[in-house]
Amino acid sequence: MAGVKRMPRKIVCRYCTKPFTQSPYHPKQEVCTSEECQRRRKREYHSKKISDDPEYRQTCADSRKNWRENNPDYQRRYRQNNKTSCERNKWKQQGRNRKRRLSAIVKNNLAIDATRLFTEVWMTGPGAREIEKNNLAISQVMILHIDTPFMCNRSAQ
Ligand SMILES: [Zn+2]
Repeated sequence: MAGVKRMPRKIVCRYCTKPFTQSPYHPKQEVCTSEECQRRRKREYHSKKISDDPEYRQTCADSRKNWRENNPDYQRRYRQNNKTSCERNKWKQQGRNRKRRLSAIVKNNLAIDATRLFTEVWMTGPGAREIEKNNLAISQVMILHIDTPFMCNRSAQ
């Protein structure tokens, strides 16, 4: 008896929404074979697997560690060759760190009502006197939109 031959099905790629013919060997295929869509599929699979599978996560961490040990100069050379992107990454990372710290503060209910907080700025170091004379205070303000029942109740009072 001859095996039933599957007819190739034409479906739409779930990323680029272009029609493509499914591989007869992969009946569950949902993504076309374009390089961009395949890269996206692999990236999404990897990040899902990293968050769902602790063993996979550990294997990836070990692999990165091994690679770093085998290529000890890579990071230093990369930073030298890509100074602007490294600087940008550094700023972005510092922003993410600040955001995470603030979010932790909010979660711990330590920031109760920002409108009622008094701030005090301490200036120190060799340039502090000049800054004070010229009224130049460098500041950074981060506005968080937090819609929690706690905050709503506070504003309703
Ligand atoms: Zn596609």
